[in-house]
Amino acid sequence: MPDAASGPNAPLVLAGAGPSGLVAATLLARAGRRVTVHEKNATVGARFIGDFQVIEDASSPSESVPALFARLGLPAPSWRPATTAEFFDSRLRRVVIRSREPYGWFVTRGPDEGTLDRTLLAAALEAGVEVRFRSRLEPREADLVATGPQTPDGLARETTFATDGAERVRVLFDDRLAPGGYAYLFTSGGRGTFGCAIVRDLAGIDRRFDESLARLAEVEAVPMEGRRDAYSFMNFALKDEARRDGRDAVGEAAAFQDYLFGLGMRYAIESGALAAEALLSGRDYQAAQRAAFARRQRVSLVNRFLYESGGNLGLSLFMAVAARVDFRRFLGGWYRPGPVRLALAPLVARLWRNRGRCAHRLPDGHWCRAREREIQAPALGRIA
Ligand SMILES: Cc1cc2nc3c(=O)[nH]c(=O)nc-3n(C[C@H](O)[C@H](O)[C@H](O)COP(=O)(O)OP(=O)(O)OC[C@H]3O[C@@H](n4cnc5c(N)ncnc54)[C@H](O)[C@@H]3O)c2cc1C
Repeated sequence: MPDAASGPNAPLVLAGAGPSGLVAATLLARAGRRVTVHEKNATVGARFIGDFQVIEDASSPSESVPALFARLGLPAPSWRPATTAEFFDSRLRRVVIRSREPYGWFVTRGPDEGTLDRTLLAAALEAGVEVRFRSRLEPREADLVATGPQTPDGLARETTFATDGAERVRVLFDDRLAPGGYAYLFTSGGRGTFGCAIVRDLAGIDRRFDESLARLAEVEAVPMEGRRDAYSFMNFALKDEARRDGRDAVGEAAAFQDYLFGLGMRYAIESGALAAEALLSGRDYQAAQRAAFARRQRVSLVNRFLYESGGNLGLSLFMAVAARVDFRRFLGGWYRPGPVRLALAPLVARLWRNRGRCAHRLPDGHWCRAREREIQAPALGRIA
């Protein structure tokens, strides 16, 4: 643990006011610690545009997302359970998937009232956390680093807009249009999000976005008024140590992410809570994060490998099976660290070993995929 955190009453300094940093700060402040969070932007959620995101609720069948929030004493953001969706394959064939219990919870992200970011900020302030905006902090100066992704392992372009009142959850699985990723359209309560997420050909994100949008418009021309667009990226890496520049790190600053679908919010919340608990109890955060996440992360790498190797045929098969069973249980099966997936993990890690430059500022010895050429992608220059 860093020096500042060593005394039980020493003030704590955190870098980053995303979900991971705000959850950690709230729990620390509630336990009586003096906590300052430095946020480089003028608001929380500055890289998001009011877009819908899903907190997945399939990876931990024993604890639902509302139960997780309740256990941590976090206020629920304005959220909506996801129990159904329409999936489309590369030939635009449609299946409907359903689950009895929610497989996820839709929240909005960004600086506005009602978003996950604003809800967690309010909880932190109420707990007595001081949040300093427009204040960049070097990770090595922080007791806990929660600064989000640092290099693109995956890239997304999104648009948010005003629309009609219809509820839509549509996902397009077409490896030709969204290489290694997918496109999605969510509408609810007169607001909508369309996004295209990819892990290959990052420089081609604009063409990928336009073509996926046009393809889903063949299903239905959804009204989109007052569009706002943004680019953003996500991090994934396997590691023994969740540290940046020698400091304990949480959320995507430590490259915690579900690599199958690029879902990082549950990891951000859970790792933020684990780090707070470690700081309060004096227990070893690194041991705790390894116990909680290492197997899940390895399985997520294998899942990504299977996802990308299967191509459009594999994606159609995935959809067909998903439509026949309860989707939450189906997804839970993918996340379960079973012996076959765990055995495959070292093989996949070897096959995809990074032999190029790595831009993650994690400790030596971590694993990530080579992304050298894509790091130069012109589109990345436009990311906030
Ligand atoms: C387009 C897109 C769609 C996504 N959809 C989903 C989804 O549906 N479901 C899901 O679970 N996940 C999704 N994710 C991932 C999810 O948004 C992230 O995993 C999550 O926000 C990570 O939280 P965090 O606290 O680690 O980082 P962030 O939310 O990135 O917060 C980090 C904060 O640190 C601040 N910061 C950075 N550097 C410094 C510094 N030096 N000093 C001070 N402050 C600093 C940043 O400004 C930011 O506010 C999506 C990501 C993208 C890009």
